[in-house]
Amino acid sequence: MQEMTRTHSCGELTAADEGKEAVLMGWVNRRRDHGQLVFIDLRDREGITQVVLHPERDADAHQQAKTLRSEFVIAVRGKVSRRETDLINPNLKTGEIEVDVEQVEVLSEAKTIPFPIEDDITTSEDLRLKYRYLDLRRPQMQANFHLRHQVMMAIRSYMDRLGFWEIETPFLTKSTPEGARDYLVPSRLSHGSFYALPQSPQIFKQILMVSGFEKYFQIVRCFRDEDLRADRQPEFTQIDVEVSFPDVDAFFAVMEGLMEEVFKVRGIEIPRQFPRMNYREAMDRYGSDKPDTRFGVELQDFTEIFRKAEPSLFRDLVEQGKTVRGLVAPVSYSRRILDEIDAFVKQLGGAGVAWIKVTEEGRTAVPPIKKAGTVAIDAILAQAEAGPGEMVFMIAADRNDALTKLGALRLELARREGWIPPDKWNFLWVVDFPLFEFDAVENRWTSLHHPFTSPVAEDLSILESDTGKVRARAYDLVLNGVECGGGSVRIHSSAVQAQIFKLLGLSEAEANEKFGFFLEALQYGTPPHGGIALGLDRIIMLLARGQSLRDVIAFPKTARAVDLMSGSPSPVVDQQLKELGIRTRKS
Ligand code: ASP
Repeated sequence: MQEMTRTHSCGELTAADEGKEAVLMGWVNRRRDHGQLVFIDLRDREGITQVVLHPERDADAHQQAKTLRSEFVIAVRGKVSRRETDLINPNLKTGEIEVDVEQVEVLSEAKTIPFPIEDDITTSEDLRLKYRYLDLRRPQMQANFHLRHQVMMAIRSYMDRLGFWEIETPFLTKSTPEGARDYLVPSRLSHGSFYALPQSPQIFKQILMVSGFEKYFQIVRCFRDEDLRADRQPEFTQIDVEVSFPDVDAFFAVMEGLMEEVFKVRGIEIPRQFPRMNYREAMDRYGSDKPDTRFGVELQDFTEIFRKAEPSLFRDLVEQGKTVRGLVAPVSYSRRILDEIDAFVKQLGGAGVAWIKVTEEGRTAVPPIKKAGTVAIDAILAQAEAGPGEMVFMIAADRNDALTKLGALRLELARREGWIPPDKWNFLWVVDFPLFEFDAVENRWTSLHHPFTSPVAEDLSILESDTGKVRARAYDLVLNGVECGGGSVRIHSSAVQAQIFKLLGLSEAEANEKFGFFLEALQYGTPPHGGIALGLDRIIMLLARGQSLRDVIAFPKTARAVDLMSGSPSPVVDQQLKELGIRTRKS
């Protein structure tokens, strides 16, 4: 038998290759027996080619073809021929040809596969994750990972062109405070001590600036032990960036250019000069610090109208210091749908949503609004410019509470009504975040971003006296209502850094114990610096139009942080624990 060497991929041959001899290798995607003829769709990473086994060409090969089953790996040698006109498949690059086989060799057999390798898959995700290597064979998955590769190449080449150096930082490190729980790794050589897997390379990249590297980036894995949702994974990849002597406008332009390169990979042109919006405005208009600006339906403030309204629940609430926020939407919902909307708001916590419905016949409203009187209702409708076929939804609560709930309702209505146009890519910088937020449970200030974020210079004087008002030199990059990155100009003075740690409730001893090395580093000539980290998985998910991060991470974990394929996490043998000086407690 002639030894076969692969000559072409399964996505390559066209009518121009007619008459050539080809050797293809790949997986049996499908076998069809047409009487004597056996047709096989042979698949590899590049595509599918139809190969045909004729009994008269080679009886052995033909006989063997009858035994081939799905996902066998085979090699075939044969001649490229044109298909008959009515058999041409215009959807395939190779659709005009087929290969008439003269020799077949089985390179590897396959057990019966647990689910078909096809894109319209209905198999449960758990089963697909258990057999991830099969799931990854699906053309859509192959395309997603090709895209991921191309995006990573585009990032590296762009950053290199701009003079950024990719420098790796350790995985076995000391805990960094990004707000999540750490994954810990016990030390064998120093029992009772632990490394933490980095939640991000934050401190290291800042120290690289102290070291004089000026422009750093890294495509880097980060680890956070959080409760997982569809858009979170315990290990995920960031495009981490830091520069010295930053000029925020110039830095934004660099990042916008990066996004331009990334989207170019998909042939998508995005408008440069992303708009900017300050945090307070984002909250007031969209009820979110990551507004989806692809559609309107912005929030409004009705508080003052209720202050002057007739005695009613909402007036009482306003007198108690609550605000009334609302939105007007082009919908005219029935009772049944309104109950669903109310239930949606209630599951966010607290009371439901009040509404006024305007029709050609007049208007109806829930009792607490009716009680506020017709003057108030007129004023609301006038301010909202609401006419027949529209409804006003309102929530009375503390400012943030009312805004975030309405923000969520706005998105829910958009989802129900299909307001979001496809193929729109709305980038937005959200700026001027507060530096701190108050954690009522722990009764202390916490950093909204992380404790290395610089306050706005003018606000330094009110750090202690009006902590909640201090603005941060922080920014988030938002795309279509998804936060795809965040960063800041950093504190580069050791004294200010120590002051911030103190404000966050860290004693001097604690600050020194945790970050002493960093505070020390800041004292040896630290350039002003700042940076950002972008969530690579999320960006690729949006570009690939995937539903979940699992569509763009080769070996992801489930919502319970389990790898169903390898079965991690898993118990270890006692000997391993002993070496680490660890005893487990069965509780
Ligand atoms: N380290 C930050 C994060 O992971 C990003 C940054 O400030 O550069 O969120």
